[in-house]
Amino acid sequence: MMCTPSNNLVTFTSSTKTAFLQHLREKSTNRHITQTDKDIIIEWLTNPHKRPSSQKEFSRRNYILKTFAWDEKTQSLFAAAKTDAAKDRTVVTENTIADVVEFVHGNNKHGGWDATWRDISSSYYGILRSDVIYLLKQCQTCALNPSKRPKGSAATIPSSQPIDHEPLGFLSTGEVEYDISAWDVQENGEHSGE
Ligand SMILES: [Zn+2]
Repeated sequence: MMCTPSNNLVTFTSSTKTAFLQHLREKSTNRHITQTDKDIIIEWLTNPHKRPSSQKEFSRRNYILKTFAWDEKTQSLFAAAKTDAAKDRTVVTENTIADVVEFVHGNNKHGGWDATWRDISSSYYGILRSDVIYLLKQCQTCALNPSKRPKGSAATIPSSQPIDHEPLGFLSTGEVEYDISAWDVQENGEHSGE
């Protein structure tokens, strides 16, 4: 008979959360939403009298109005869905990323990287895949359960296959794929036609 462990295991210890925030700061990426970013976004969404003071601010405002929505009733900020099929995603500031990942990962019964990332990315905005991987590697419950250990980012590994002796270098390849994609698009502007 299976019974759920009723011990005091937390998904992420407070030192994990602290280390994660530190890690975000060291990366100094601008792809997370800070509280300041969020305040600015909300200001543009809720203050119709605010006027852009520069071309840059004008574009920024347009982008914000197109991308985000403010729910007055619940006082929550959403990234608006681009299609009807998709749903609005809750905007997550960087100081609450670990809490959200913990919540989702607990809710999906400690699913793997791919499952947790799928659940995160369908409901939340502001969390990167690399954040999920970083945090799941620190999960106390998964660490005690070998069958739940991350199996790398490859999509289709037969699930029954034990891969205990996978070298670390293999695992680390999963981390970069998401972050770099969007930024280095242009490397060669010129194409000689015919
Ligand atoms: Zn876990």
